[in-house]
Amino acid sequence: MQAENVDIVIQGGGPVGLACSTWCLQKFPEAKIALLDRNPIDDVGLAAADTRGVALSHGSKLLLDTINAWPTECANIHRVHVSQVGRFGRALMTREELKQEALGHIIRYRDIHLTLRRALRAIQTQSPNFIWRHINANADAHQIQAKCIVHAEGGLFKTQDWVETGRDYEQSALVGLVEVENAVPHQAWERFTSEGPLAVLPSHYGPNILNLVWCGSPVSSKARLALSDVDFLQSLQTEFGSRIGQFLKIQDRRLYELGLNYRKEITQGNEVWIGNAAQTLHPVAGQGLNLGLRDAYLLSEKLSTLFSKSEDQKSTAAIEVTLQDYALSRKADRTATIGLTDFMARIFTSNLLPVVIGRGFALSALQWLPPIKTALARQMMFGRR
Ligand SMILES: Cc1cc2nc3c(=O)[nH]c(=O)nc-3n(C[C@H](O)[C@H](O)[C@H](O)COP(=O)(O)OP(=O)(O)OC[C@H]3O[C@@H](n4cnc5c(N)ncnc54)[C@H](O)[C@@H]3O)c2cc1C
Repeated sequence: MQAENVDIVIQGGGPVGLACSTWCLQKFPEAKIALLDRNPIDDVGLAAADTRGVALSHGSKLLLDTINAWPTECANIHRVHVSQVGRFGRALMTREELKQEALGHIIRYRDIHLTLRRALRAIQTQSPNFIWRHINANADAHQIQAKCIVHAEGGLFKTQDWVETGRDYEQSALVGLVEVENAVPHQAWERFTSEGPLAVLPSHYGPNILNLVWCGSPVSSKARLALSDVDFLQSLQTEFGSRIGQFLKIQDRRLYELGLNYRKEITQGNEVWIGNAAQTLHPVAGQGLNLGLRDAYLLSEKLSTLFSKSEDQKSTAAIEVTLQDYALSRKADRTATIGLTDFMARIFTSNLLPVVIGRGFALSALQWLPPIKTALARQMMFGRR
């Protein structure tokens, strides 16, 4: 069979691959791009898929708005309360003090995925050279020849077929939806327990239905998954306390293994890695997808500028230079986001007394030194620019 020739192949139709394809086509509708997608063509298959709530920053909202890819079902965060179980130190961040419409937004993973698919379908009608191919795991991607290969295969920690640099935090996240008695509207809670962070986040289902992300050792998390609903709610209540009243119901419990896996070099020749294919982070700071969307946006700017030029300007050397330029321009944001997330994942899990005390002071400093709070919040909302 004769191979098809395109300028760019994007491997992976998750949120980051879809967003990158859509931004490329928006900037250069004639682009010869092939998107290789392992998910089914039909959205129905995805509808029951991953329903975990993901926190997207306001910066990500502004980016996704540019391609009409902002999901309608979303809960806004106006305040974030951070504390640690049984120790001093707490901090409260509010949208008013940071002068933002919202500090973040919680959306189901599958809604982000589906909305991006719809945005791509809408833009695809203006792009005669775009190929969206649905493939299975055994398909031969080499039937497509491309001048530039974008890896957006994503994946979760321990399911990836590459391991480069990183850390196994020996933690799992148990996620689910909880119903509580007396939630504070639009407030997110992040509580650091002896085993890891426990986050309770708003959801679009209503004020008293909240997203739970409870990180703990793999053994405890597995045990919690197996508990009866009553026992589970009781142990959650003990860890979280009574700030939002009784925990009444739990549903849709799932486990994810957590760790850090990242590539030091995100380009090699004519290949480039973005999103989770470039870095897979602990969810403590809610940064993985936010960072991946910024990767996709910046790469689409560089590639669309290059591929809208005449044929003789798209040499192998020009592609490599463009990708190196991309990697350089992502360096500060990647380094800061990976570093901050890794730091938070480690210090908020340690039970060493000096660390515990330092953590209490750090939270107090955050509370009482507004410039530190603003700088941290800006990094988490918009990345390093
Ligand atoms: C418990 C948990 C909570 C999280 N919370 C947050 C949060 O609050 N905020 C945040 O920003 N991030 C969060 N994240 C991280 C976020 O989910 C990821 O960063 C994001 O999903 C990465 O998107 P992606 O498109 O790069 O990869 P993925 O979402 O993994 O998508 C990759 C796609 O590529 C497909 N694929 C794989 N291999 C191939 C191949 N060879 N060819 C073609 N297609 C292929 C897969 O089927 C998949 O559809 C969280 C993660 C976890 C585990």
